[in-house]
Amino acid sequence: MVQVKDIMAVMEGIAPRKLAESWDKPGLAVGDPNHEVKKILVALDVTKEVIAEAAEMGADMIITHHPMLLFQKFDSITTETSVGSKIISLIQNNIAAFSAHTNLDIAKGGTNDVLAELIGLQDLTYLEETWAEDLKKIAVFVPVTHAEAVRKAMCDAGAGEIGNYTCCTFGAPGESTFLPMEGSNPFLGEQGKLERVEEVRLEALVPASQAANVIAAMKAAHPYEEVAYDVYAVEQRYKKEGIGRMGVLPAPVAFADFARMLKEKLGLDSIRLTGDAHKMIQKVALCTGSGAEFIMPAYYAGADAYLTADIKFHEAQKAVETGICVADVTHYASEVLIVPVIQKALEQAAAEKGWALEVVCSKVNGQTFWAL
Ligand SMILES: [Zn+2]
Repeated sequence: MVQVKDIMAVMEGIAPRKLAESWDKPGLAVGDPNHEVKKILVALDVTKEVIAEAAEMGADMIITHHPMLLFQKFDSITTETSVGSKIISLIQNNIAAFSAHTNLDIAKGGTNDVLAELIGLQDLTYLEETWAEDLKKIAVFVPVTHAEAVRKAMCDAGAGEIGNYTCCTFGAPGESTFLPMEGSNPFLGEQGKLERVEEVRLEALVPASQAANVIAAMKAAHPYEEVAYDVYAVEQRYKKEGIGRMGVLPAPVAFADFARMLKEKLGLDSIRLTGDAHKMIQKVALCTGSGAEFIMPAYYAGADAYLTADIKFHEAQKAVETGICVADVTHYASEVLIVPVIQKALEQAAAEKGWALEVVCSKVNGQTFWAL
């Protein structure tokens, strides 16, 4: 039986929760993690139309990009409010609601990467760093005879990763002393006698989140009943992730021609632009959804053009003054691209795990704005 929590685990692999911005609320908003899931509806938002669509098709779970309860504060859940009605409707129809939001924007292969790939950007980097993995250093003192076994156990548990290298450890030989006291059961030596042993000080960097696992593996492989080890906080960070993307087009193109390509690829009827239509652009930055706050970071990073949505008049004016060309590709168009990507990823996970799971893209979660 596939349960909501199994789907949540797959989504955690696609968009790890730890990558989310601090103000964000991704995850399971409504539902029981143990509830069975046979059918999933993927959409951009949990609107009342999307809930009706899910109920109609007998879906057990809705997965969206936007969290349905973000910034919500309520003292009661009743049908008198739109959010209350949606929560009650989900519960009445036994539908769980889960979202992956800024964690999906930041994750590799997420919303920003999907848009960057669609427009052909190469050599991608993030626009602004939002996450870096905290590290610890673990140093353990181990008899020479067991140094290799302890080293391997620590590395197998996740210690010693630096960039594209694994098993990065350092060992320094030395002499250790210990005096087994009453009640001890020493692996070497005897009670009441000072023991001198040739040991290795073995040290490795460990992701802080995996320190407990590495220490447990280290202790399991270590022969002593009392393992001497130190855990240090370290300053440097190797694994970093960020929001937005910056890359280069295969060849320079006039901004107006670039904008025509955007219109066509994103299925837009029109596109709001600022800046010089004839400016030749090659270095392009983007941020899906509401990313006007990154106009200036994009400019300072050297971008010729910047793509985002929800740009206000004065923000656009500021962009014009710098000379960076900006395209407002609409919040919906920049993010709806992720819906089929999530659907395919869940289908692939189901196929790999042998799950009988149907995953459907919403047909009703459409563009909110319309124009005359
Ligand atoms: Zn959004």
